This record gives sequence, structure tokens and C-alpha cells, in this order.
Amino acid sequence: MSTPAPSAAPPPRFRPLRLRPREERRIRAGHPWVYSNEVDTRATPLTAFEPGEPVEVQAADGRFLGTGYVNPHSLICARIASRDRRHPFSRSLIVHRLKVALGLRERLFEGPWYRLAHAEGDRLPGLVVDRYGEVLVAQLNTAGMERAREDVLGALDKVLRPRAVVLRNDSPVRELEGLPRTVEVARGEPPAEVEVEEAGLRFRVPLLGGQKTGWFYDQRDNRLRLARYARGARVLDLFSYAGGWGIRAAACGAESVLCVDSSEAALARVAENARLNGVDGRVRTLRADAFEALAALRAERARFDLVVLDPPAFVRRRRDLKAGLEAYRRLNRMAMQVLAKDGFLVTCSCSFHLDRARFLALVHEAARHVDRNLQLLERGHQAPDHPVHPAVPETDYLKCLVLRVSLA
Ligand code: SAH
Repeated sequence: MSTPAPSAAPPPRFRPLRLRPREERRIRAGHPWVYSNEVDTRATPLTAFEPGEPVEVQAADGRFLGTGYVNPHSLICARIASRDRRHPFSRSLIVHRLKVALGLRERLFEGPWYRLAHAEGDRLPGLVVDRYGEVLVAQLNTAGMERAREDVLGALDKVLRPRAVVLRNDSPVRELEGLPRTVEVARGEPPAEVEVEEAGLRFRVPLLGGQKTGWFYDQRDNRLRLARYARGARVLDLFSYAGGWGIRAAACGAESVLCVDSSEAALARVAENARLNGVDGRVRTLRADAFEALAALRAERARFDLVVLDPPAFVRRRRDLKAGLEAYRRLNRMAMQVLAKDGFLVTCSCSFHLDRARFLALVHEAARHVDRNLQLLERGHQAPDHPVHPAVPETDYLKCLVLRVSLA
């Protein structure tokens, strides 16, 4: 008996996940998630599935909708990775998606420093991969991607042959999926730190102990906006981390830059990166809580021509909305109080629960509270290596406003 060639193997058959009548409409319109209340649990009980198991999602009448994976313990109980019957969710689909993602990045950027995979934005639900040259940092944020771990690693090997892969599986979203938070080296021996090149500047960032995956690629284009406002300016960069904004401002001709962060390790990076880019004479650091630093600077009557606010997400979960909004309001108000006459404010939010219109309204409220008038000059969002899925607002999270702030 002859065995068929592997390429002729039929696609794997996944167990079906059947939806209730009419619940397929949102999915047919392009949304990739299934919520647990949309499942016909008599036909296909969720409890019968293992977390992360691959599934075929079907309409109530049995029509094929797509393949993906399930998590019976999550409110988002399934995510669709493919709508093509011939190419179900599998290692070869992941390879294909990664190649498509890589093609976009190679068009966008000169060097190998970028977010290679932005989860749903690259039709790889639950998978985030940042590239630092030959080193990759991945996050498997769902039970489905966790279960497909070897396929993901195999696909990354095949597409990029990385020297090392770190799994930075410590994001809080893993808890919603019932997954432990860990950081581990999955392939090779990663260096302790890597160097990132961003529009002519170099930044050294730690791989294992840093923030998130190590660098915030999403702000790349927004940092370039500083060129118009930074020349000759006294600049305050709050929540500076490794100096992405502050060192850019110095390179754009700022007279002086003060980077404030609560982490000593982050500020050590700022100092190192300032030297690396030859602007260490104009960049200082201050270890402090940003709110306390603003209060102290105001008390000293310090004034800046340009303030950058790029805080961590203050609204991580919907139930933090009220407290988070108040924190954004207070922060923006305090920042305006240390701005010189007609100064510039660059203010950001990466909380997707806070939408664009509401963020602008909030900053305006903050201004009125301290009797300032605003002129909105520029509106930014995340860089294109963080593609937005038009049906998934969660993939469109970053907001950046450039404002001129005047006294009444
Ligand atoms: N602006 C940075 C990213 C900010 S990440 C960039 O573009 O790369 C968030 C940073 O805020 C971290 O470095 C963290 O140490 C710091 N941080 C968090 N809470 C803080 C607080 N209350 N005061 C000052 N820094 C804070």
C-alpha cells in the first residue's frame, strides 16, 4: 500500500462550535470573536471543549463560518483565525500569516525593528511578536495560542530563523484566559539587552526585565512629530521609560530635556541612550512619581516649552474607567500648569476603553479647569506595524494629541 504524500493530506477536522440562530451575523460581517452567550450550548456544550482546542465555527444551520480556537472559560469563547475552509488554523496558516505580516513591515521600515504581529490586526488572534533584529519577543495571550505554542515557534523559525525567542507571557490579559503569567526563553540564548534603531537614533533596551516586550514601537511616528516643536525648547518627558521621546526631542534640537520616571533602571537607560546618541549634555533624569514631580516643579515655578505625557494605561479594565479618567484629567491639568506661555503639550493614552473623542474632551476639561485655552494641532495614532482591524476597536488603542496651550 502506498502512503499519500504529506502535501495531499486532508485538512484537519476540528470539532464544531455551533452558534445560536442569527448569532452569525456579526461574524459574517467581519468580526473575529464569538461570545459565550452566542453559542448553541445544547448542540455543542462549551464544557466539552478543552481550553485552546481548535474548532470549526458554524452558523445555526451548520454553515461553515471559519476555524480558530475555543476557550470555554473566557467571555470571548472563540476566536476565528481563518475563513477559508482550505486553510484552517494550523502551523502552515500561522506561517502564511507571518509572511504576510513580514511583507508589510519590510515595506514600511528599513531595518528589522518593529512589531511583526499585532494579534487580530494581523489576523493572528492572541499573538503578539516584536522583532529586535535576530531576537523575537512573543506574547501568547490566549489559551488557543498557548496550546499552539510549538506551531507558533515552528512558524517563527521557518519565517525568520531567529537567534533567540523570548516568551513574554506576563501580560495581565492572560489572567482572563486562565493562563499563568511567566517569562521564559523558548529558543536560543537571548542577549540581556538589544539595540533598537528608530528613525536615525539608537536605543538600548533590556529584554527580560524591561517594560512589556522591551520597546514601545507603537509611538514611533508620534515621536517624530516632536521635530516641529522641540527646537530650542525646554522639554519635560514624563513616564520617560528608556527615553524614546526625550532623546528624540534632544536630537531635534531641544535646549534641555528632563526625563522623569519612577524606575531607576529606566532612567539608567535614558542616561546610556542619551550618550549613545550624543545628546547627554542636554538630557537630565529625575526619579519620581510623575504626579509628585509635577507638583514639585510647579512649586519651584519651573517652566517648560514642551511637555510629553505618555503614561501607562490608567484604564486597563472597564471597571477602572472612573478612577482612570480622573487620573488622566489630573495629570493633564498638572502638566499644563508647568507649561510656559503658549507652550506645547503632547498627551497620549493607550487605554482602549477611553475613545478618541472622550480623550480630547477630557483634556479640554482639564484645560478649562486651570483656565487654559487649547488649540488642537495634530492627532496621532499607533504606527502602521500595529494595524487596526476595523471590526475590533480593541486593536485601535493609541491616541496622541499635540496641543498648544494658552492662558485665558
Ligand atoms: N513613554 C514611554 C513608555 C512609557 S511606559 C516610551 O515612549 O517608551 C510607562 C513608564 O512609566 C515606565 O517606565 C514606568 O516605570 C513609568 N511609570 C509608571 N507609573 C509611574 C508614575 N506614577 N510616575 C512615574 N513613572 C511611572
